[in-house]
Amino acid sequence: MTNLNRIRVVVMGGARVGKSAVTVRYLTKRYIGEYSSSTDFLYRHCVTFDSATTEVEILDTSKCAAMGCLDEHLRWGEAFVVVYSVCDALSFHDARDLLDKVAALKLPGYCTTLLLGNKRDLDHSRQVGVDAGQELSLQFGCQFYEVSAAEHWAGVSLAFQSLLREARSLQLLR
Ligand code: GDP
Ligand code: MG
Repeated sequence: MTNLNRIRVVVMGGARVGKSAVTVRYLTKRYIGEYSSSTDFLYRHCVTFDSATTEVEILDTSKCAAMGCLDEHLRWGEAFVVVYSVCDALSFHDARDLLDKVAALKLPGYCTTLLLGNKRDLDHSRQVGVDAGQELSLQFGCQFYEVSAAEHWAGVSLAFQSLLREARSLQLLR
């Protein structure tokens, strides 16, 4: 039997870490290069797991986070993609702050979080080691992937699918 549920995903992180690039890559398989950063974008699509169809809403956040919309985003979402750039140590600090905020506002068992280290193709200017990402994810009990939106669709897709699967499983448990 097919059920139609809904998962609300918020993609957040520091400026220019690739939030839009990973979102568009996941949804369209394409990498464009430059993305509008002036506003939040809401995308809708459907995924099917184990013969159940789920409507997914993905909010690609922008400057709004800096303008005090973060709490609103946290309340709205039930699955969070916290993106940082592996060549931007500051963005890794931002990611930690965001994971803290998710943990403070959401009840365990009611949300799923994915820590996503993007731009792994820029290994020559790497500032955040893969170990640091892994350690942070263990600390917050979230999933962790390093990806390159620029180079590969598969890794980005795997990361999103893994998040959505977990979010779906949590919904079924409730
Ligand atoms: P946002 O502000 O977090 O939404 O970041 P964008 O998605 O707009 O990306 C910011 C810049 O980083 C753009 O110039 C992208 O082309 C670039 N970018 C995004 N992802 C990658 C990646 O995986 N590798 C590289 N080399 N550049 C990337
Ligand atoms: Mg953007």
